[in-house]
Amino acid sequence: MTGERILLVEDSMELRHFLVGDILRPAGYDVLSAVDGDEGFTLARDLRPDLIIADYQMPGRDGLSMLRDLRQEGIEGPFILITAEGSEALAVEALRLGVSDYLIKPFDVDDLLNAISRVLRQHWTRKIAEHIPAQLLQTNRELGQRLNELDTLVTVGKRVTGKLNLREVLNEVVKAAVQLAGAEQGSLFLVDRASGELYLYASSDEMPSKENLRLSVSDSLPGSVVRTREPLTLAGEELQKIKTHYFFRSLIYVPLVLKDHVLGVLGVHNRETDAEFGDHALQLLSVLADFAAIAIENAQLYAITESERDTLNTILRDTEDAIIVTDETNNVVFCNPAARRTFRLSDAVCQGIPIAEAIPHAQVVDLFAKEARSGRSRRSEIYLDDGASVLNAQLTIIESVGRVVVMQDITHLKELDRIKSEFVTAVSHDLRSPLTAILGYVEMVQRSGELNEAQQTFIERIVFSARSITTLISDLLELGKIEAGFDEDREPVYLPAVMDDAFESVRHQWESRLQRVHVDIPSECPPVLGNPLRLRQMIANLVENAVKYTPREGEVSIGLETDGEFLILRVRDTGIGIPAKDQPYIFDKFYRTDEAIDNYEGTGLGLSIVKSIVEAHNGRIWVDSQVGAGTTFTIMLPAYDPDAVPRSSI
Ligand code: ADP
Repeated sequence: MTGERILLVEDSMELRHFLVGDILRPAGYDVLSAVDGDEGFTLARDLRPDLIIADYQMPGRDGLSMLRDLRQEGIEGPFILITAEGSEALAVEALRLGVSDYLIKPFDVDDLLNAISRVLRQHWTRKIAEHIPAQLLQTNRELGQRLNELDTLVTVGKRVTGKLNLREVLNEVVKAAVQLAGAEQGSLFLVDRASGELYLYASSDEMPSKENLRLSVSDSLPGSVVRTREPLTLAGEELQKIKTHYFFRSLIYVPLVLKDHVLGVLGVHNRETDAEFGDHALQLLSVLADFAAIAIENAQLYAITESERDTLNTILRDTEDAIIVTDETNNVVFCNPAARRTFRLSDAVCQGIPIAEAIPHAQVVDLFAKEARSGRSRRSEIYLDDGASVLNAQLTIIESVGRVVVMQDITHLKELDRIKSEFVTAVSHDLRSPLTAILGYVEMVQRSGELNEAQQTFIERIVFSARSITTLISDLLELGKIEAGFDEDREPVYLPAVMDDAFESVRHQWESRLQRVHVDIPSECPPVLGNPLRLRQMIANLVENAVKYTPREGEVSIGLETDGEFLILRVRDTGIGIPAKDQPYIFDKFYRTDEAIDNYEGTGLGLSIVKSIVEAHNGRIWVDSQVGAGTTFTIMLPAYDPDAVPRSSI
């Protein structure tokens, strides 16, 4: 505070002018000056300045005599003595007379200014204190104490929520409990979920056999707090009546409760002093107990998460499947060791870079690029080392994470499949000749003379069975060819023309069953890059099924539409439908529903052929069906754009 009035008593004119004009007034003080002790005394007595600064040695009354006289007159107030000599006797005398500060010439101007402001501050503080009633001072002290307590609570609260190491957090809580309650010791017990006992988890000091201190809930003071869920405060007499093996003079225990569940007990105790704990200490401890309960919950949840993460990491690390995870922009975020081995990647190269750079394998890059265009998941085969090994790659989009690809080595399965296909093809071929012979002889039997009714029926059954086998063999051979990729020739194909062709081969079937067939084809649509014969077969198989599995006079609709870069073909019928349990398997070879086996002719190969053709054209097929209501097969094929950049070079 400036503006205070200072009386400077100094006989040296030079120093007086310097201090008044250059130092004290510029510093904001209202300065009076006197040239000697007598004048100083008079001015001080009459004008009562806030502070007197006086030289010791002056003509007439020296500085100390002036002070002595003023005190005798009952004039108090701060006083700074300036002296040229620094004798001990003078200092003692000055202090005895109540000099507030003492400067020895030559002194630093800053020292003087600091001394002035310090002395004035003390003076005002004392003055204010003199006028404050004792009760206010007490309240003030208590307020200060509450502030400290609040500060401790906030600090503990912050630490508790910020730390996940349970032991550290709970040690902190116990320390704060001791401090806040003004106790000698503190302890924290947790309930052991397995045994139901309480065990000492943290304490402010070394308690006997701390590690093994276990208490029963039914027969201990902390245990009674667990049972009642109520805090417990005991002191003196009350405690003497209770037999405890550990002697206390006063104590508080509060329960640690979270969501109606008692996790443990926080306590403070005095052993040496008789001081009892009041309600206030109980309140503070209850707040701390709430913090501790949250900390326990956090730490336990964290421990569970950590352990789950460890398990997951172990699975990902030790699994034989190669796993790659990317973010939504196709930057690699995770590569497990199997993936690193498979693609010969170093650890460093894996993270944070685009998949195309991390794994410059065209089929992998293609898998990620294709997936963006359709569906939530996609399967693809990845050939390594010039086809020496094959991986089955399944890509799944995981919302707000990105994409996960899991790859299994299916080289041996591929080999088995190849051997099986070769076998089937060879057997199918070899079966054709005897079948032709059977059919030939059957015809000759019919021509060789009159047959009775029974013979005629048997002959018809032979012909029907032989034809079924022929159809089966044809389908098997077809499938073998498609799977082996024998007809990989591709040309731009306009589906409407192919569809017309396909309908011709099925028309007589739907006409004989009096079914209504609706065809909805746009006047213009882009071509697909494909094999026209196979595409015709694909459509014919679907329409044949729709007609076959729909009752007489039922309805079949066939629609084609363009959707962005795709052509969508739908074949819908009002037939028997496919039970939900069968739907995942109907594209498997030889799979037929019970209803189909019992009541309809078929080989169970038609949809496998359709699916193989769709996949060979980079398309997708799926089914929607309801038993009794009908079935819709949808095929999505990429439209051919001659100007598009081939995907593998994206
Ligand atoms: P199938 O020669 O038995 O028709 P597919 O492979 O073509 O063999 O079809 C497999 C099975 O899927 C069928 O046996 C039948 O159970 C079911 N299915 C196929 N298409 C339809 C359809 N449009 N309506 C009802 N069920 C169908």
